Amino acid sequence: MSQQGHSQVKLADPIKFARDARVARGEVAVAELGRLVDVLSDGSGMVSWVLQGELGEDRKPRLLLSASGVLQLRCQRCLGGLSWPLELSSRLLVVPVGQPIPDEELEDDAQDAIEAVADMDVVALVEEEILLALPIAPRHDDCEVPRPRGGDQRKSPFAVLAGLKGRDGGHEA
Ligand SMILES: [Zn+2]
Repeated sequence: MSQQGHSQVKLADPIKFARDARVARGEVAVAELGRLVDVLSDGSGMVSWVLQGELGEDRKPRLLLSASGVLQLRCQRCLGGLSWPLELSSRLLVVPVGQPIPDEELEDDAQDAIEAVADMDVVALVEEEILLALPIAPRHDDCEVPRPRGGDQRKSPFAVLAGLKGRDGGHEA
């Protein structure tokens, strides 16, 4: 069962959602995803997401989450904004609360496991998955950082300041 609000979407029973092959979808403003915004250069844009329940051939309940949008990452070289197309696709095994996650699932990189907590907050899940999908050190492809060419040619800010002070001193008296 899902409940549509502004950005509040909750799965009352994630395992039932998966078994019934239900689908929920929505859009959320990036600015509403506080933990994500913290690592971005700005919180503009929207993320669209689709959550699809599935009972696999192995009779295990899963959630297939996809999300897309454009995020403004921070370039790790020049610290400027960097548009990054988000195309997320996650496969999540739903495990009953309190049940240990089977080892083989942990070793499978193609999917993660999540606990089937009641009233699961889908937007929080979307944010979590986006955080996991972000590149660790995003950079502009053609990033150009102004670099000092040599010690002698470089003017330190203090030298410039000293020059200004000198001129100011000249106006005094
Ligand atoms: Zn850059």
